[in-house]
Amino acid sequence: MNGVDGRHLIGGRAVAGSGDGFQAVDPTTGQPFGPVFHDATAAEIESAGALAAAAAPSFAATSPAQRARLLRTIADGLSALGDALVTMVSAETALPAVRVQNERARTVLQLQQFAALLDDGSWVDARIDRGDPARQPQPKPDVRSMLVPLGPVAVFGASNFPLAYSVAGGDTASALAAGCPVLVKGHPAHPGSSELVGRVVMAAVAALGLPAGTFALLHGRSHESGAMLVRHPAIAAVGFTGSHQGGRALCDLAAARPQPIPVFAEMGSMNPVLVLPRALAARGAAIGEQIAASALLAMGQFCTSPGMVAWIEGAGDAALVASLASKLGAAAAGPSVHPSIRAGYERALQQVEALPVEVAARGAPGTAATALCPTLLAARASVVLQQPRLRSEIYGPAVLAVRCRDRGELSALVAAQGGHLTATVHGDGDDFGAFGDVVAMLQSKVGRLIANGVPTGVEVCAAMVHGGPWPAASDARFSAVGTTSIRRWVRPMCWQDWPRDALPLALRDDNPLRLRRMVDGRHELPAPAAN
Ligand code: NAP
Repeated sequence: MNGVDGRHLIGGRAVAGSGDGFQAVDPTTGQPFGPVFHDATAAEIESAGALAAAAAPSFAATSPAQRARLLRTIADGLSALGDALVTMVSAETALPAVRVQNERARTVLQLQQFAALLDDGSWVDARIDRGDPARQPQPKPDVRSMLVPLGPVAVFGASNFPLAYSVAGGDTASALAAGCPVLVKGHPAHPGSSELVGRVVMAAVAALGLPAGTFALLHGRSHESGAMLVRHPAIAAVGFTGSHQGGRALCDLAAARPQPIPVFAEMGSMNPVLVLPRALAARGAAIGEQIAASALLAMGQFCTSPGMVAWIEGAGDAALVASLASKLGAAAAGPSVHPSIRAGYERALQQVEALPVEVAARGAPGTAATALCPTLLAARASVVLQQPRLRSEIYGPAVLAVRCRDRGELSALVAAQGGHLTATVHGDGDDFGAFGDVVAMLQSKVGRLIANGVPTGVEVCAAMVHGGPWPAASDARFSAVGTTSIRRWVRPMCWQDWPRDALPLALRDDNPLRLRRMVDGRHELPAPAAN
């Protein structure tokens, strides 16, 4: 593999690993290939953690402009990798080149968006309540606050987004923007891609003269490497994208530390789709096609894949089921990004098919070692209500079609849902109004509501919310996508009666950074620039 030799990246250096070895796997054949990577050992994690702890104060003190330059340098470095990166990611994940190119463009965009956020600067939420020594019965203190970085962040990416949710993905970009050093636990499904991208980040850190402990990449296939990283006393927060089991394990580890830390885990989701009666009657077949196409994108390997569609039996439901069945049944199996994903998919299907569930359609089985076979499952709502397994993610191209007897059953089905990243509602005419109570309940279960569309395709923009109540995410107050995701890595800090010239620039009276601030309870815009 060009430019990749299986090293960890620690303290600005490529370091030969000494833990157990593993290789990348070609998902089309199941065969290992490329250099040997190593599980990060306790000593390697200790070294990266100590360097991050040492780097944290000076990296926190860098100017927004310096950090914006860092992010733009990383973005340029990713673009400059050209086809080498695309070839590497495709070889390790079987994702087609076009998808990888698009994902790189998204990753670059994310870095640039955080750089622009730093240019603007107002995200630090500067607040100034000026003192009044003459106030009676007591003088009023001068109180000023803003958001400050938490400290080193451990980042765990998912297998299905080898760029956008990996080494230089959204978690890393937002944490670096906030002023937090980042230690990435590389995903074992794409270790070469991780190293290639990690070298770009390491070079950018060096080029800008930032402390070497600002970034580290630690490879690992054993859960133990990740667990040791979360337990390291220097780590102040964890960003995780992946399965429920992984997210839960890291939340428990973080909570059990002598000093507990937050884990921002973005996990799997069924992304339920409700088809309301008028829409069902008018366009059942078209909706079925739309849902099936969304579920087949990347062979269902999206956290926003539509895993459940529910409706009240009536006009249009036969057309909905028929179109779902014909589209999913006609689709050929396609590769998973790693053999472990296929194994997990088949395990999940076995669990579900052991319940009173009908296999309504199955696509053509694939020959690839890691092929995921599209599947339409069908069950009555009464069964889904009794079986929690039917209300949780089957990661891959499976859709569970749920027929409700009446409105009460649809309501009960929504009430029984756990948290999801999204829910989609198809409605025509007065459907949304007539089912207002059901939609309101749905809102309490998700981070994003979609009307008459599909849940796949997460727009990377300032207003996006990618998160939701447990178990979609560990903390529904935050988003993992969009510029608000920076809020995961900061805390509010307050200065009282502090010497004016020792205050952070964001809180000085003359507003040298020209930020929007709240002054004495009112939002203030910076004065127009002179010239
Ligand atoms: P995964 O198996 O949970 O792996 C994610 C990372 O966590 C890997 O680095 C893994 O490393 C580590 N990990 C998992 N369990 C661990 C444990 N018990 N202790 C320590 N580390 C652990 O997830 P995946 O299979 O790669 O990704 C697919 C899942 O991600 C799906 O459920 C999908 O819905 C979800 N996803 C969610 C989002 C979102 O934004 N919400 C986005 C994309 C994907 P090791 O395996 O080496 O331990």
